[in-house]
Amino acid sequence: MAPASTANTDTTSRADYIRALAPQLASYRLKQIEAALYDSHIRAWADVTTLPLDVRGALGAVPWMSVAEAALLRSRAGDTFKAALSTADGLLFESVLMANRRGQWTICVSSQVGCAMGCTFCATGAMGLTRSLTADEIADQYRFWMYWLADQPAMEGGRISNVVFMGMGEPLANYANVKEAIATWLRETDIGATRITISTVGVLPQLERLLTDPTWPHVRIAISLHSVNEEQRRAIVPTTAPRFLERLADWARRYERTLGNRRHHVTYEYTLLEGVNDTPEHARELATYIGKTGSSKINVIPWNPVAGKPFVRAQQERIDAFKRILLNAGCTVTQRKTMGDDIAAACGQLATTEAKR
Ligand code: SAH
Ligand code: SF4
Repeated sequence: MAPASTANTDTTSRADYIRALAPQLASYRLKQIEAALYDSHIRAWADVTTLPLDVRGALGAVPWMSVAEAALLRSRAGDTFKAALSTADGLLFESVLMANRRGQWTICVSSQVGCAMGCTFCATGAMGLTRSLTADEIADQYRFWMYWLADQPAMEGGRISNVVFMGMGEPLANYANVKEAIATWLRETDIGATRITISTVGVLPQLERLLTDPTWPHVRIAISLHSVNEEQRRAIVPTTAPRFLERLADWARRYERTLGNRRHHVTYEYTLLEGVNDTPEHARELATYIGKTGSSKINVIPWNPVAGKPFVRAQQERIDAFKRILLNAGCTVTQRKTMGDDIAAACGQLATTEAKR
């Protein structure tokens, strides 16, 4: 039974359920509950032996997980796993587990079901926004993969070492829930803030907000840039605000001064669309722009083909030529590894395929 105040939604937070069913619970009990949720050996309320039996009984009606597996795909190489997860109200979204080095895994989490930003090359953008995920639905993606890893004998000792918000949705359009999920992980897991990356299309008011938010976690920020020509960027990212590039560079300089340090700079992501934004001229302009931001880090992303989109994935030689120009101009350049291409995979594709079934 959901608490009366929110009885018509299926997105009641676990904390609200607990408050409604066990209103007298002391705060140290709530801490024990949270710790149990992040213990891979405990899979049900009945097994939370730190709690008295009557409390365990009362908690029986509280959902143990806010998300459930609807489908799971494995890449041929066995280094990428994609889950379509369903919410209590029957929505599907995706979450990905990727090997980074031996025994260490990165999870790529979603922050929304769909996305309102409408980037023209992105499968999630084509879906529009259904709703933001709750803090539980975001945080439970970690628990889903933690349990899953613990249950794979072949992956014994495997642990989640990094989290990237590069699944479905725009994390800064769901600021409070993303922040709450991160706070839970920082309390309950061994992941530190510098192992968590938020990738954002660059929602300027929210970028401003985090600069002055005293409880903002010092996670890494990656900005999806894709073009340094405002008109062209608006053609690729329709939500590009007026004077975006100028305002972003101004924000970035202030960010580097207040939150940046030697280990932590903003990264700029640049999805390469052949013949659109990947010529040598584009590379030179990009290097000049990055020079104005106080950072030098660029992550180029080969476009992952999405059915029905009028773009072409650039050949590796063309990508290398683009990277060389950036490197020669003094930028630090990385290229996103394309993993799990065979389980289809650009962001948003698994969940949209499952939803159509
Ligand atoms: N909404 C956020 C985070 C999710 S998308 C953002 O846009 O940053 C994470 C990254 O994947 C972004 O850099 C986005 O540009 C990129 N991306 C999305 N679809 C892609 C595709 N089909 N091929 C390559 N990169 C893609
Ligand atoms: Fe949304 Fe990011 Fe896709 Fe753009 S690239 S539509 S912001 S998920």
